[in-house]
Amino acid sequence: MNLSNLIRPNILALKPYSCARDEFKGEASVYLDANENPMNEPYNRYPDPLQWALKEKIAKVKKVRPEQIMLGNGSDEPIDLVIRIFCEPKQDNIVAIDPTYGMYAVAADINNVEYRKVLLNPDYSLDADKLLAAVDSNTKVIFLCSPNNPTSNLMNRTEMLKVVTGFQGIVVIDEAYVDFSSEKSWLEDLNQYPNVIVFQTFSKAWGLASVRCGMAFASEEIISYFNKVKYPYNINKLTQDFVSEQLDQEARKNEWVRMLLEQRTALTEALSELPFVEKIYPTDANFLLVNVPDANAVYQYLVNKGIIVRNRNTVSLCLGCLRITVGTKEENEVLIGELKRM
Ligand code: PMP
Repeated sequence: MNLSNLIRPNILALKPYSCARDEFKGEASVYLDANENPMNEPYNRYPDPLQWALKEKIAKVKKVRPEQIMLGNGSDEPIDLVIRIFCEPKQDNIVAIDPTYGMYAVAADINNVEYRKVLLNPDYSLDADKLLAAVDSNTKVIFLCSPNNPTSNLMNRTEMLKVVTGFQGIVVIDEAYVDFSSEKSWLEDLNQYPNVIVFQTFSKAWGLASVRCGMAFASEEIISYFNKVKYPYNINKLTQDFVSEQLDQEARKNEWVRMLLEQRTALTEALSELPFVEKIYPTDANFLLVNVPDANAVYQYLVNKGIIVRNRNTVSLCLGCLRITVGTKEENEVLIGELKRM
């Protein structure tokens, strides 16, 4: 793979914005370079544009180099950036599994880039050959998501590897739900596959969805283009400091994951005893995809009881499906209690 052939020519040639904090990086006693207000320390100062202190900590936890990390306003920011870096509007295209996380298609539409959906098998497994058959010389990016949303299953690693090695462009592997999964992360093999970009997020296992901090991991070279294109101060100081603090509590995160996996098993068992539940799909995520004869009716019944699940009835291959997030023991019991009375 030749990265410079994949990157849009205008991005390759881009002279990025140079902010005050880029031009002077050392320690000084008087800062008069950024038109900041001298009052209201420390919030008066622009934050570190590349968030090095936070990245150093993430790098230790994820066992990568800090230069291999890009942080965004949730994973949604790197999704958009990948498209803006690699895909020429009205010319290039993206190939992705279907069904999957809806933002890939929306970000492609916003950027006026063709988005080619390739249906998963009926059991939601990945057929690498079928996916690769949709690729042409203008395909720059393939989106894979594993564990996949909304189908909740892992994609088979051998099939994913076929995609990664059989495609001369960028393969995004969205691992938002990896902490709940029995399969190891692709981060461990990142250095072997220079065309892979792995997405993870603080929104799920770390319990920080409101904070909006997503991670993209890739080669230093790819990350350098993310850094050129992103807004200079895309992660504010409050988020940088707070996520950094939360990273000290990895044991608490692991305990939450353990509890949620226990609840996932309990919820699966309780749901499978309900007469109208036709199928619960195998899950490696913190949610279940459940098939019922009339998803709209069950959805509306639960709304009336003050319980909100996600109706996936109109999503490809998901007719009759509800997506149910695993909650606390008490929340799951309320759900099951109401479904038993239905
Ligand atoms: N990827 C997947 C597969 C998701 O399901 C979600 C959220 N539903 C995201 C990314 C977005 O996560 P974030 O909060 O980091 O933007």
